[in-house]
Amino acid sequence: MNDAQAKQTISLLIVGADIATFDDNDTLVRQGAIAIDGDTIVWIGTAAEARDKFDAAETLRASGMIAMPGFIDCHVHTAQQFLHGKLPSVRRKGELRSPMWQRYLIPFESGLEPEDVYASGIAAYSAMIRSGTTCFLEAGGPFPDEMGRAAGDIGIRGRIAMSTMDTTDDLPAHSRMDTADALRRSEELVVRWKDHPRVNAWLSLRQLMVNTEPLRLGMRDLSHALDTPIHTHLAEGTYEVDFAIRNWSMRSAEYLEKTGCLDHHVHAAHSVLLSLNELDLYAARDVSACHCSLNNYTMGRPRLLEMMRRNIRVGLGTDGAATRASLDMFQVMHGAVLGQQAVNGTPYHCDPPVTHEQMLKQAFRGGARAARLEQHIGQLAVGMKADIVLVATDDLDQFPNYDPIITLAESAVGRDVRDVVIDGRIVMKDRELLTLDLEPMRERVRHQYKTIMSRFDLAIGDPGDAA
Ligand SMILES: [Zn+2]
Repeated sequence: MNDAQAKQTISLLIVGADIATFDDNDTLVRQGAIAIDGDTIVWIGTAAEARDKFDAAETLRASGMIAMPGFIDCHVHTAQQFLHGKLPSVRRKGELRSPMWQRYLIPFESGLEPEDVYASGIAAYSAMIRSGTTCFLEAGGPFPDEMGRAAGDIGIRGRIAMSTMDTTDDLPAHSRMDTADALRRSEELVVRWKDHPRVNAWLSLRQLMVNTEPLRLGMRDLSHALDTPIHTHLAEGTYEVDFAIRNWSMRSAEYLEKTGCLDHHVHAAHSVLLSLNELDLYAARDVSACHCSLNNYTMGRPRLLEMMRRNIRVGLGTDGAATRASLDMFQVMHGAVLGQQAVNGTPYHCDPPVTHEQMLKQAFRGGARAARLEQHIGQLAVGMKADIVLVATDDLDQFPNYDPIITLAESAVGRDVRDVVIDGRIVMKDRELLTLDLEPMRERVRHQYKTIMSRFDLAIGDPGDAA
């Protein structure tokens, strides 16, 4: 290029990293550069080529690091963040009751105030960013606008949702909604958030056992009218299959199919206890699923590999911090590989059923499909949104970094994430969050935590730390 040729003006240049694109050809660019303008990736090539090509407002030097797409956590409970570590302590006392979501998680959520949910959001979304997650799908919880406000302040991409429960029995009065009210508030939520550049709202049905048929049918109609997905829990426990058989003489997904509620708008977390017939229904109706490996293997034999092979839209998710206390998607990915190896076996003289690299790609590309965002995220390519994670490779644990993709897939964990760009904006640099001062929030959280937990102890009849 000669001096007469003008350099292209861009907003951000990431330069020097090995770029693991996870595109259709698994392109790897060593010592590469990514040019970003606004929220979009406009060019990917080598650092040497980029030198004379761009005039960048900001440059992020990333030599020795690996650039990868951001993780998409396809099933998280923002509002349960402060339950982190509590349930294992109840289990240790030998007092854990089942099903856990009904006995503990819903009573916990019913004791939260809006400001608690905002603080949960700040804690959860900052933990996500610090382990490489740039997009989340909220399962549905209380005060979703507070989740949205926290996501907006932190700078993460996400889909918030409001939990809906309208059965009359076995629910804290606080959590129970009138059916028409649940539908009206869900619709208003989706409409209220439809124009935000990063945070929109989905619909949510909590669980078959706490939703009535009129709510399910109403939610189906709403999902069509608003062209918006419904996040739900499905095939997640033997109790749910028993419930479905007792009430409708068929399994959960079969019942949804019969009532016309199983379609491409349904996003079904867990999806563990599926019969082969139900798996066919997922494929035929284009239902998406989320595999939460840190929890799913306690529920049954998850059919993740079969879903992947049938091209069902399936992403990976943490299920929030309450039950397994980690929002690190690297851990979820490792758990999924080992879990599938265990349930599918490794026959003599055969390759393992799924490799870490395949599972990592599933987390990105499958996650983007499950989020209905495959046109925008899940790979590093020109035209995609700039959601980019830079992973350090200078820990001895990763030495030698022979192949960046293998390093990512087999050695990296959340704490190796150094810098994070979301929607073209640097939100974390050198592990320091740039969008929000977390210190005042830490203080507020410490203060609120005691109140939240004493309400919870009261709700579940546990004397708590006072005992
Ligand atoms: Zn869940």
